[in-house]
Amino acid sequence: MSIDFEIPAEAKAIREKVRKWVHDECIPAEKELDTKPLAEVLGPLRKKARAQGLWCPWVPKEYGGMGLGPLANALVQMELGESMLGALSMNTQGPDDASMMTILAHGTEYQKEKFLKPLLNGDKRICFSMTEKAAGADATGMQTTAVKDGNENYVLNGEKWFSSSASVADMALVMAKTDPNAPRHKQYSTFLVELPNPGYKIKRNVANMALEGPHDEVIHGGHSEIEIRDLKVPADNLVGGEGNGFAMGQHRLAYGRLRHGMHNVAKAQRALDMAAAHVTKRSTFGTLLADRQAVQFMLADCASELYIGRLMLLHIAYKAEKGMDIRQENSIAKIFHAHMVHKVIDTAIQLHGALGFSQDTPLAKWYTQVRAQRLVDGPDEVHKWRIGKNVIKAFREHGTTASAAGGDLL
Ligand SMILES: Cc1cc2nc3c(=O)[nH]c(=O)nc-3n(C[C@H](O)[C@H](O)[C@H](O)COP(=O)(O)OP(=O)(O)OC[C@H]3O[C@@H](n4cnc5c(N)ncnc54)[C@H](O)[C@@H]3O)c2cc1C
Repeated sequence: MSIDFEIPAEAKAIREKVRKWVHDECIPAEKELDTKPLAEVLGPLRKKARAQGLWCPWVPKEYGGMGLGPLANALVQMELGESMLGALSMNTQGPDDASMMTILAHGTEYQKEKFLKPLLNGDKRICFSMTEKAAGADATGMQTTAVKDGNENYVLNGEKWFSSSASVADMALVMAKTDPNAPRHKQYSTFLVELPNPGYKIKRNVANMALEGPHDEVIHGGHSEIEIRDLKVPADNLVGGEGNGFAMGQHRLAYGRLRHGMHNVAKAQRALDMAAAHVTKRSTFGTLLADRQAVQFMLADCASELYIGRLMLLHIAYKAEKGMDIRQENSIAKIFHAHMVHKVIDTAIQLHGALGFSQDTPLAKWYTQVRAQRLVDGPDEVHKWRIGKNVIKAFREHGTTASAAGGDLL
């Protein structure tokens, strides 16, 4: 008797197809970005992907997606993250994907028809505006208010900060306080806001430490600082009912964390491959780098971390397939993957020497980009705080911490 790690044939076939897609189409297309406008690269790529049935992997088939479950989706995303065009080519890029998930789960028929349909079609994009200068890690400190103006509209006032892709988005999912007297987590609601909109003013894209590649401003859309002044939103655009904004936001972020982890595994894999390719060609002091034990140890450490990272995602996917609670594992994995990808890219840079520090490989860009992983979707410390509390809770309930340490199935 053994644990069955055999991946179902159907999921395996999809993974192979996506792996080929990323290597044969997306990675080569990255080079075209140096000379062509994004639309000329992404447009044909998306058309080709869709024609092959590679579109919106986890979205149900009746909504035009591939209808993949958690395991098959994890396998697909672990391939897509190898290329900056991977997720985009299949319309499964963040931050849009998680907001699509929110509308799919909580939107009205009207909202699905008007807002979700063009998103699923890849015709429009959406950003998520929760964080404010006033509050990030503790989102219950948000100050933006939404006040009902008759029965037809809400009027929003406040500010938002670090809304990714806002400047290229056609709509925003905006969280605001609707009831200051409700319990802390029931004070907020979520609204669909059409952009551009005079009440939702993008003041600037915040300059940050991440190196930009060609068209990054369009692909990632920057991280915007926003002034919200007398923003009129039709009551029909309230998503999921008043007071449910916080819970919906957490549901959305939970998937975002996992997707980041999946893409981090893919990116780390590509960095490790690059490191291996380099050390098997480069000699110093008459010896191939690959033959030096110190170098082998560095690669071994990366391989170990990648292995753990993959297993975590497969374990979480397994639990998700069974409808089990994955919150503890999600937090643990979120922290682990953010550090893992940083470490593997750092090692690849080290082994490339000055070439790694240069911008002649994508490593330097990735290094500066992945630093954000330890902050986004809840910083490390907030997740550790929750993980630690669960460890204590498990001990008090069961006399062992195993269930809070991945041991509930083992
Ligand atoms: C690249 C990037 C993209 C982003 N995209 C979006 C987006 O699209 N939409 C959106 O709404 N937001 C977005 N954010 C914002 C992100 O969610 C917040 O930055 C994050 O929640 C942290 O909030 P904060 O920056 O206000 O830090 P703060 O809340 O001020 O926390 C600062 C630091 O304090 C420490 N800390 C906080 N709480 C605790 C605690 N309980 N115990 C111990 N230490 C603690 C942590 O080290 C933390 O990093 C993005 C951020 C980045 C960097």
